[in-house]
Amino acid sequence: MRTRELERFKKILLKMRKELKEDWDSFEKENLSQNIRDQVGQVSSFTTHPADIGSITDEQERAFLLAGHGKDILDSIDRALVRIENGTYGKCKMCGVNIENERLLVIPYAEFCRACQEKIENEEMV
Ligand SMILES: [Zn+2]
Repeated sequence: MRTRELERFKKILLKMRKELKEDWDSFEKENLSQNIRDQVGQVSSFTTHPADIGSITDEQERAFLLAGHGKDILDSIDRALVRIENGTYGKCKMCGVNIENERLLVIPYAEFCRACQEKIENEEMV
């Protein structure tokens, strides 16, 4: 991946990280109600980012991100930033191909290409 592209993803990741961190902090303070937890419980049992599922509202996505994967995503973002620094960003951890740019634009912290992600999810469902 070109340096310019890497810089672009780095910016996206840093912005995402900052927003998520702020959301997470206020989220913890508010002490999320059980009601919302129940609502997102179903969705968050999937490892897929809601953007992969489609047909999910922004509000649901926000709740999903925070309740289901807030910390996980923060960790993933941190790992992605490390990969940018060591030059492995954008490569699938499983098969080593370059992850599709369109995918990275939606999920900049993606660690697997779409094919591998699907494989992982299929295996988890068995
Ligand atoms: Zn792969």
